[in-house]
Amino acid sequence: MPLFDHPEFDEHVEVAFCRDPASGLKAIIALHNLSRGPALGGCRMWPYADEAEALTDVLRLSRGMTYKSALADLPYGGGKSVIIGDPRADKSEALFRAMGRFVESLGGRYIIAEDVGMSVADIETMGRETAHVAGVAAGGSGDPSPATAWGVFQGIRAAVRHRLGAETLDGVRVAVQGLGSVGFHLCRALSEAGARLVVTDLNQQAVARAVDELGAEAVAPDAIVTAEAEVFAPCALGAVIDDLAIERLKAVVVAGSANNQLAAPRHGAALRDSGRLYAPDYVINAGGVINISHETRPGGRPYDKQAAFAHVAKIHDTLLEIFARADKAGIPTSEAADRLAETRFKPAGLAAAA
Ligand code: NAD
Repeated sequence: MPLFDHPEFDEHVEVAFCRDPASGLKAIIALHNLSRGPALGGCRMWPYADEAEALTDVLRLSRGMTYKSALADLPYGGGKSVIIGDPRADKSEALFRAMGRFVESLGGRYIIAEDVGMSVADIETMGRETAHVAGVAAGGSGDPSPATAWGVFQGIRAAVRHRLGAETLDGVRVAVQGLGSVGFHLCRALSEAGARLVVTDLNQQAVARAVDELGAEAVAPDAIVTAEAEVFAPCALGAVIDDLAIERLKAVVVAGSANNQLAAPRHGAALRDSGRLYAPDYVINAGGVINISHETRPGGRPYDKQAAFAHVAKIHDTLLEIFARADKAGIPTSEAADRLAETRFKPAGLAAAA
């Protein structure tokens, strides 16, 4: 399979194909850029149709981590890994231990964490073979969702300030799509700040809880985009911002935790052209990785929740800077974020020798 000509290949410094016949492991680890430090990124387990699909995913995801870490001001580069397999059927201790040995063989250039299809326990199993793991329960930062929600809350504050000129969220209506791990924590923070909530989820129990505990108004899943609100916070699925959504959306701010919110890059420009302010997803949802990064800080300082959450809160100012740059250059915020990130790492970067 030609790697250097692959459309998602972006001068990645290293791509490792990992095979362990005894356990059945087939995995790919992609390190995109190490100029800021070792690559910190999740491991996704997914029943990819073939190796080509897995490669495309890991190349794209690892590049995304370089941008995310740079804008979150982390001393880390960008990397990601994928295990080809069905997380409901193919997990075993031998598989994760083999993966741990491959991570160990990279000598600390890659720090592995949880992603789609993986649990904290799976990463802990890898941790029996390598110290280069993050996001584990013992002595670690635990569930990243509260930190992610805190970052999204700060991002909504920044976007409301920039687009609506409001100093607080008091009385601001926020339509939240998805009341899962992140969405519910976000709703609680919004409610405490005086925002008015319109919510939806496929899970009726989650909706009932938001109505009962937070006084939210519930709408059907297909009515959330057209809900009367100033802010739309996608916290469920990716690709929710497409042509139809932009046509129907009532909100003037789009700011939520979901990954890959834009169906295509051109929808960043379409949001801008329609007068809406978009908080780029990989900037606003970086709270989880910022929190995890505080476990593995160079120098071995122990995890400190207060310091980690203070770092997460900087997402507010980073977004204000991105909004200002986008206005000045007359470009979509999604493009302004990429450009700012690119000033913070060296192209085709390998970490400098210590
Ligand atoms: P989750 O699985 O806990 O919650 C997702 C919720 O969305 C579920 O309650 C689900 O029922 C609901 N949902 C699914 N489809 C829906 C639909 N069509 N309409 C309404 N609701 C729907 O996930 P999470 O951890 O809260 O993450 C939410 C999003 O944020 C995901 O896109 C995730 O990739 C992203 N994200 C999460 C984190 C984190 O720390 N958990 C970090 C970065 C990004």
